[in-house]
Amino acid sequence: MDRARSTAGSSAGERMAFGRDCGQDCDQDPNQNPNQDCNRSCGQFPDLGYDLDLGQVVALIQRSGAARVGLQAPEGLKRATPLLARLISQMTGAEVIISGDPCFGACDVDMNLSREVDLMLHLGHSELGEGPINVIFLEARMRDDLLAVVQKASGILKTKRVGVATTIQHVHKLNQALQALKDHGIEGVLGPAGGRIKHPGQVLGCSYSTTRGLNVEEYLFIGTGQFHPLGIALATGKRVVVADPATGNVSEIDTDPMLRRRFGAISRAADARKLAVLVSKKPGQKRLELARRIKALGEAKGLEMFLVYLDNIEPDRLLNIGAEAAVSTACPRVALDDAAKYKIPILTPPEFEVLLGERKWVEYVFDEID
Ligand code: SF4
Repeated sequence: MDRARSTAGSSAGERMAFGRDCGQDCDQDPNQNPNQDCNRSCGQFPDLGYDLDLGQVVALIQRSGAARVGLQAPEGLKRATPLLARLISQMTGAEVIISGDPCFGACDVDMNLSREVDLMLHLGHSELGEGPINVIFLEARMRDDLLAVVQKASGILKTKRVGVATTIQHVHKLNQALQALKDHGIEGVLGPAGGRIKHPGQVLGCSYSTTRGLNVEEYLFIGTGQFHPLGIALATGKRVVVADPATGNVSEIDTDPMLRRRFGAISRAADARKLAVLVSKKPGQKRLELARRIKALGEAKGLEMFLVYLDNIEPDRLLNIGAEAAVSTACPRVALDDAAKYKIPILTPPEFEVLLGERKWVEYVFDEID
């Protein structure tokens, strides 16, 4: 079979929403309006607020002749996987196996399952351009409308030319956001895709490359949560306004509280003599060379450093190993987002450089994965 890596596309002709052609009785006729969203009137599919591009994948499975298909989804989409598995099975005749392990991103392909199956469907993330070749990344598109929240945000933007960024769930509606800004006399600028970023204007928790080098003085981040806009603010040093389509709220990012917490973590780690350098097994998070460099840096300062290789980084796993502090070379969110869960300070590699005096505090940067 052709095992070329692929991300399921989104052309209107191939797009298929759940409830349509899904094997359930349905009062919508997709042939009359192929772009019409399914209203889930069958009530069989959990309405998670996303549209998933299934049609092309089913066609690909049928064309490839895959007999075994793996299905992996982040926690927010997992409830949909049993029905999705059944639909794929019905439509293609393939056996479908769901990955039950946690899934945090496209970096986190279930390698063991990918070896068991002919084709693996990874839902909810865009491909990073790495990983097993039999994986299809099936993006999930949030149905939230961006118009109202971007209009609201335009009221607190201070300049007439702004960088615009968002996460994978909303990239398909960025043109709507740019038009809403234009209607208010504001030019929205998207940074180019590249590296592990697939779409212009997209950011990942571990990559803000699309926001760098834009000739703008402020940014509009469209999405939920503080992590990504904090990353943009630190990557660019510019003002960041957040427009959250889920809540309709608009706010401005303040990096101070986060920087204070991180300074506190670095200060607490200063007492540690025995430090673990965490290396992730996940294919898109594994940075063994960086971990070796960090270990050597610490040892050169007389610290006891040891490499620890693990899959999911959780507090219990670090308890018995006896480290007094840790440096995580895995997903940057482990140290920056989950720090409160751990009894010992966990630093990012740039923070460890600050601790050792190799980097000045004023040169603080978010950890990013190239
Ligand atoms: Fe997301 Fe972290 Fe993976 Fe980057 S490393 S894609 S931020 S889960």
